[in-house]
Amino acid sequence: MNVGQLLVRSGMAYAERPALYLGEQLVCDYRGLAHRAGCIGSSLLGRHGLKRGDRVAMFMTNNPEYLEVLYGSWYAGLAVVPINAKLHAKEAEFILRDSGASLLFVSADLADTLAPLLADIKELRVVITPGTPAYAKLYQSEPLAAAASCDNDTLAWLFYTSGTTGRPKGVMISHGNLLTMISCMCADIDLPSPLDSVVYAAPISHASGMLQFPHMIAGSSHTVPVSGGFDPAELVELSKVRRPLSLFAAPTMVKRLVDHIEATGADPSGFKTILYGGGPMYLEDIRDALRVMGNRFVQIYGQGESPMTITVLSRYHFTNVDHPRYESRLASVGVAQTLVEVRVADSNGVSLANGEVGEVLVRGPSVMLGYWNNPEATANTIRDGWLYTGDMGCMDDDGFLTLKDRSKDMIISGGSNIYPREVEEVLLLHPAVEEVSVIGRKHPEWGEEVIAFVVTEAGKPIDSAELDDLCLKNIARFKRPKHYRFIKALPKSNYGKVLKTELRLWLAAENAPEANKAPR
Ligand code: AMP
Repeated sequence: MNVGQLLVRSGMAYAERPALYLGEQLVCDYRGLAHRAGCIGSSLLGRHGLKRGDRVAMFMTNNPEYLEVLYGSWYAGLAVVPINAKLHAKEAEFILRDSGASLLFVSADLADTLAPLLADIKELRVVITPGTPAYAKLYQSEPLAAAASCDNDTLAWLFYTSGTTGRPKGVMISHGNLLTMISCMCADIDLPSPLDSVVYAAPISHASGMLQFPHMIAGSSHTVPVSGGFDPAELVELSKVRRPLSLFAAPTMVKRLVDHIEATGADPSGFKTILYGGGPMYLEDIRDALRVMGNRFVQIYGQGESPMTITVLSRYHFTNVDHPRYESRLASVGVAQTLVEVRVADSNGVSLANGEVGEVLVRGPSVMLGYWNNPEATANTIRDGWLYTGDMGCMDDDGFLTLKDRSKDMIISGGSNIYPREVEEVLLLHPAVEEVSVIGRKHPEWGEEVIAFVVTEAGKPIDSAELDDLCLKNIARFKRPKHYRFIKALPKSNYGKVLKTELRLWLAAENAPEANKAPR
């Protein structure tokens, strides 16, 4: 089934319900949203001559046109290629070339920087910017009455990986993959209602845009914040008028929202579900979040290759405070989602006993079709039907998965495995430590030694002995960092993920010219 059909249905079932807001201003109801998507789909096929299966790229900051372009493309049987608006124009250019997109929607704020790079992209025939007459013309076509019929394994979304190592790869996500993901969201996160709202504070091109699906099915309202992004004060204001309000937030956003609410004494009761994931949430931070905002959190663990759909730590598990393993559950990423199987295995795919650390494998109808034009990478990643996630973790007897690190981030010192996450958790217990990232550095005797990059609260220097002391009190002696580097900020990708590769380069360049050294 075509996921576009979800809006066709809601356009009838919830016709008069408010569908889309820009901040506090109503943009259209469900009838209107479905109509616009129908017109866009029809125009892409008719006026612009696209054919079923063609790719429509979207390089757009969050804006009210985002959803109608997604659904309009699906109505027409086209595949979308949403590109993170925070990427450099050259990175966007690479994705445009690699995906062979025929048409690009680019928002006005990004159009000028991208324009000079588009001239010689052969397949790209049309570029349209929302808010221009060319965009307005899309509404003039006679709307498609229904979404094109397509199979579950028809390509729906070409999602480019963050590419922290090497070039990003196009992950082929089918309509069936998305439908499975949506079913899991409804079963494992929330079943929204027409009275609910969702706000897009994180890029719609990624997880935030996935959260639109269950809300689209339910006839809930969708809000694009006027800032187009994450502003805690704006979110608090929206939670007053759009309650009950849900959102997806990366762990760093959760921390900033919680800090804001604590500092201002704002009322968190307008928030319904804050779905977080995409990176590690440290125990200290989620404890603070629960204390300040109450039980409004659900955690998911997924990756582009099985979008949003590997494990979930549900609302119930956050409330079950009397459970003897509450603490370890809070530090976990929860249990397998309803429609997938998850196991931990060695490098040959042999399942490990509970408690043993190995690679996390997932199997189920949410797992991608493969990598775009890259059968070799596909064969390396999906073996015997199991997706090898590259994440290391261990399962407890109740099926709760605790992630350790990406396999390539594990440190081996003196023959013992050290998971940086474990050391990071301990260092974050120090009240003056804001952020931390731990990596390994080659050592002639031990193989690798542990190095911690530490960002402290402004103006609060820390004596490394205090950090050593914390480690000695909490973890095995051999895991303690041998060196601490105090820096102003951690290098992060456009997706907000800490770039450990960059930290390694800094260390490798210690003897190189000053410019390459780690900033202090
Ligand atoms: P991406 O494909 O860019 O969404 O990145 C997916 C990766 O982010 C996963 O393979 C994990 O390494 C990490 N990740 C996703 N969700 C979580 C989570 N809840 N906790 C820790 N790491 C996560």
